[in-house]
Amino acid sequence: MTVKKTILMLPGDGIGPDVIAQTRRLIDWLNSNRDVAFTVEEDLVGGCSHDAHGVPLTDAAMARAQAADAVLLGAVGGPQYDGLPFDVRPEAGLLRLRKEMELFANLRPAVVFPALADHSSLKREVVEGLDIMIVRELTGGVYFGEPRGIETLPDGQRRGINTQVYTTSEIHRVAAVAFDLARKRGKLVHSVEKMNVMESGRLWREEVTALHEKSFSDVKLEHMLADNCAMQLVRNPKQFDVIVTDNLFGDMLSDEAAMLTGSLGMLPSASLGATDGQGRRKALYEPVHGSAPDIAGQNLANPIATILSFAMMLRYSFDLAEPASVIEDSVRDVLNQGLRTGDIMGAGMTQVGTAGMGDAILAAMEKYAA
Ligand code: NAD
Repeated sequence: MTVKKTILMLPGDGIGPDVIAQTRRLIDWLNSNRDVAFTVEEDLVGGCSHDAHGVPLTDAAMARAQAADAVLLGAVGGPQYDGLPFDVRPEAGLLRLRKEMELFANLRPAVVFPALADHSSLKREVVEGLDIMIVRELTGGVYFGEPRGIETLPDGQRRGINTQVYTTSEIHRVAAVAFDLARKRGKLVHSVEKMNVMESGRLWREEVTALHEKSFSDVKLEHMLADNCAMQLVRNPKQFDVIVTDNLFGDMLSDEAAMLTGSLGMLPSASLGATDGQGRRKALYEPVHGSAPDIAGQNLANPIATILSFAMMLRYSFDLAEPASVIEDSVRDVLNQGLRTGDIMGAGMTQVGTAGMGDAILAAMEKYAA
């Protein structure tokens, strides 16, 4: 049966439109070569939306994002917007999407393609073949907890306050995402907190354990303190399959894991919300990199992070594992052929532009069309 889905594209600023354009070609290819009917809508987010409408995301674009089966975003921001007030800055458009779609689980895979293992700052044997997934809680914890603020004490000193808060349901819903992912991968979850010094960490460990016993005992669960996890990620990252952690630790650990792979232009991400009555989950997919104004519009950007974000959409929003694998295998093929954009260029390799990388990935996909 034909899979019919509506995808909202939000290319945004800088290299966003460059990398989204290549992903669009893959969607057209799938519409012609697989039993899918993807309808693509497009709208503005970030600085370009501010230029056109005075806001970084219009109510109409927000409504389209809520109605779409999934959203693919390029990047937002640029130096020309740095002086704007915070509430109309480009990032505010992205934050509004995350908040109103209630995207509580941020998925950041760290995959090292063998052809790129030398780009990592760690030794090849430590990272080659690495494939881990970090699930970060995105809407709770210390970044949102109350009370917060800066106050002046009677003796004239100032005091800054943030509060780490988690509830049972917040912990359960993000842990369930991690366990579900592990079921489709290596069946191992590491739950990461600081239960030795934080009550919220002790609650996190107890609640993850309770959920595991109740619903996911087929998946192996390990607990690890966040400081140890930071060390283990550089000592022996291949011991991990899925890591689930809170907003603060996830912020740090996902960036640390990302750098094991060596290049910003290769890193996809997904942010997932709750599942509705029809089994449909709100979801936003985007590359980890920013708008790279230094190379925007020059056919220099690496489109692979966005292309791999789209492959995540196929896998996690549409349950289309086969086309997702076709895309991921094609990226691997192209890297094995020695084709590189500037950011991942190495000695003896052939440099291509953004469109050239798109051409090469499409050509590799043709091999799978037969
Ligand atoms: P950046 O990720 O845009 O760029 C960092 C460096 O990596 C630059 O040298 C850039 O050329 C390079 N780079 C990034 N992506 C690349 C790609 N796909 N191919 C080749 N090279 C790539 O980060 P920055 O320079 O700190 O920020 C630039 C702008 O992007 C700022 O306005 C910032 O606020 C915004 N930003 C947006 C997001 C987002 O949209 N999610 C994330 C981070 C930064």
